[in-house]
Amino acid sequence: MMLKIKCPKCNTEGSLSLVESSYHGLYRCWKCRAPFTIKIENNELKSCEPLSQEEFDRQQEIEAMKAKFKQLN
Ligand SMILES: [Zn+2]
Repeated sequence: MMLKIKCPKCNTEGSLSLVESSYHGLYRCWKCRAPFTIKIENNELKSCEPLSQEEFDRQQEIEAMKAKFKQLN
């Protein structure tokens, strides 16, 4: 399913494809490139917190590591 997410920084609407009805992770505005952590519950956006570029990179690394870990199992 596709969820519309409005960037709090530039008000541009972007969309995110969801596999499940809940999601907690990274989102980056396609227009202003601002990174956020978003939380979705029951296909509804519950929170959208701005992230620094540094933090975004760190989170991305963690997610990549998690993905690797999943593959090993
Ligand atoms: Zn934006």
